[in-house]
Amino acid sequence: MTITETRRSDDPRAAAPSDTVLDVEGLCVEYAGAGAPVRACTDVTFQLRRGEILGVVGESGSGKSTLITALTRLQRPPAVTTSGRVVFHPQSGAPGIDLVQLSPRSLRALRWTSLSIVLQSAMDALNPVMRVGAQFVDVLRVHDRSLSRAAAWDEARRLLGLVGISADRARSYPHELSGGMRQRATIALALACRPELVVMDEPTTAVDVVMQRQILAQVLRLRREFGFAVVFVTHDLSLLLELADRIAVMYAGRIVELASAAELYRTPLHPYAQGLRDSFPPLHAPVERLEGIPGSPPDLRALPNGCPFAPRCPAVMDRCRTELPALLTHGDRSVACHLHDEEVVR
Ligand code: SF4
Repeated sequence: MTITETRRSDDPRAAAPSDTVLDVEGLCVEYAGAGAPVRACTDVTFQLRRGEILGVVGESGSGKSTLITALTRLQRPPAVTTSGRVVFHPQSGAPGIDLVQLSPRSLRALRWTSLSIVLQSAMDALNPVMRVGAQFVDVLRVHDRSLSRAAAWDEARRLLGLVGISADRARSYPHELSGGMRQRATIALALACRPELVVMDEPTTAVDVVMQRQILAQVLRLRREFGFAVVFVTHDLSLLLELADRIAVMYAGRIVELASAAELYRTPLHPYAQGLRDSFPPLHAPVERLEGIPGSPPDLRALPNGCPFAPRCPAVMDRCRTELPALLTHGDRSVACHLHDEEVVR
């Protein structure tokens, strides 16, 4: 059964399985320019379960950042979502909400309380001329007008404590905190209003390896404690193998494999996913030989015919150069590669 064949009702309010928090279907995003529009995301489809961490991985230009901005409606022209939907299903059981169609006013009400984002650079997310605690107070009081200023400051200190930042740091300005502390503060800020879904865009890229481990451990602990779901985007597959429940591998704007982290580590099906897996040292074994992926990602303005990975693929066949492989389910995973067409569950 193909992914496209699994589409449900056109009505976003239609009930989703009760454990689904986000239902992304057929999402396409283009960049308009002087020439023909460039499609950066094509037919992206996945579901996110409550409390699940879904990793999205790919090289630069794979479309993962475009996907994040489309999911959160943070994209700016010339990027535009041309089709598809992103349906958020509140835990309350209220009807699903298509974020693509939502008015800016309704979207504002949903941000922080239901859906929040952690950006790559904490300095971009934090206001440099406001004390860190005051930024928590603002967010908390915008979404709960009954909350007193004193109670909001108490809550700010408590939230900072959740990510290991001492209460007295609430009165610091962002530049007075280390890079790791700032990034942890933005994670705490994203959790201020108890969202059901947190989108994280390369949140550990700007910190050292030790801090990276601490942040990942905190994300896992906080997820256990609060039960929010996460979409975590990174170029670092090794990091996702330790953090994510499932991983979507993107290439040239499409999901080319979607599988559990354990399956993707043990038996990646798509040659690109295999290449990514073999590009970093094994997690629990001595390093023998690291394989890179030859070549570079395709120019989205001039994609080759057929499979976009064909020019780099060690297993390329004749049909790969003319026929685009569809994302097909294979047991409880999906892969877009002609090597696995015949194994597809129909
Ligand atoms: Fe390689 Fe062909 Fe599979 Fe593309 S479809 S990844 S070229 S084997």
